Amino acid sequence: MFRDPYSERQAHYAFLRKNMAFIGIALVLVVIAAMELSMLFRMHRDPARTPGQAESVAGREDETYVDAVAPAGAGAENADLPSKTEGDWRLALVNDKNPLPEDFRVRLADLRSGVQVDERILDPLHRMLDAAKKEGFTIVASSGYRSVDRQRVLYRNKVARLLGTGLSEAVAQAEAVKEVAYPGTSEHHLGLALDLVAGHNQRLDDSQGETPENQWLREHCHVYGFILRYPLDKSDKTGVIYEPWHFRYTGQEAAKSIMEQGLCLEEYLEQLADTP
Ligand code: ZN
Repeated sequence: MFRDPYSERQAHYAFLRKNMAFIGIALVLVVIAAMELSMLFRMHRDPARTPGQAESVAGREDETYVDAVAPAGAGAENADLPSKTEGDWRLALVNDKNPLPEDFRVRLADLRSGVQVDERILDPLHRMLDAAKKEGFTIVASSGYRSVDRQRVLYRNKVARLLGTGLSEAVAQAEAVKEVAYPGTSEHHLGLALDLVAGHNQRLDDSQGETPENQWLREHCHVYGFILRYPLDKSDKTGVIYEPWHFRYTGQEAAKSIMEQGLCLEEYLEQLADTP
C-alpha cells in the first residue's frame, strides 16, 4: 500500500493539535477546581472571617472591619494565658507586654457624644448610661476608640510637656509611659475601652474616683458587662496607674467575676488559665 509520508505527518500533527486543545482545557479546569477547593478549605479553617470581610481588608483601606479576634498578644509574658479565651474578643488583652498590631481594625459605631466604640458594645453602653441617668447621674464618655496614630500624638505631647519641665529625654519618656500608653499598647485601640467621667467633673485625675457618678459606675458596671480596668493598687499587674475613669467591656460573666473579686483583667485571665 502506498504511504504518503507527508500527508501522514500532517494527519499526525492535526491529531496532536486537537489533543493539545483538549489537554489545555482540561488543565484550566483542574486549576479552577483546585482554587475553589483551597478557598473552601480556608473558609472552613477560619469560620469567623467571611469572604466579604477578607475582601474589605484587602480592597478598602479606609473602611474598618471586624477582626476575627484581637490577637491575645505578641508579647512574651502573657502569651500563653488566653488559651481558654481564644476566640473571645471580649477578653482580648492589650497592655505593655501585649501590643496590638498597628493595622488592627474594628467596626466602629458613633456614640451620641461623637466618641467611637466597637459597635458590639454600643447597646450595653447606652443601657448603662441610661440607667445612670435615671438615677440622676450624668456620665460623659470623653474618649473611646483610639488609633495608633492618635496614641502617637498623645505620647509625643506628653513627652514634650515633661521635657518642658526640664527633664532629660530618657526620664521624660520613662515618666510619660506611666500616664500615656506607649503607641501600640493602648487598650483604647480595641474600641472596648472608654473614659467615663462625671458631667460636673471631667478631670482625668484621682478626684474622678470620688464623684458619686464614679461610685455608681463601679457598683453597677458589671451588670452591663463593664469593668474598672485599672484599679488602685494593681499597677504592678496592669502596668498602668490608677485610672478611676477608664472602663472596659469584657461581657457580663467576666465582669461580674472581676468586679466581685476585686481583680484586674490580667489576674482574671491568670485565674482562667489556672482553672483546669
Ligand atoms: Zn482610658
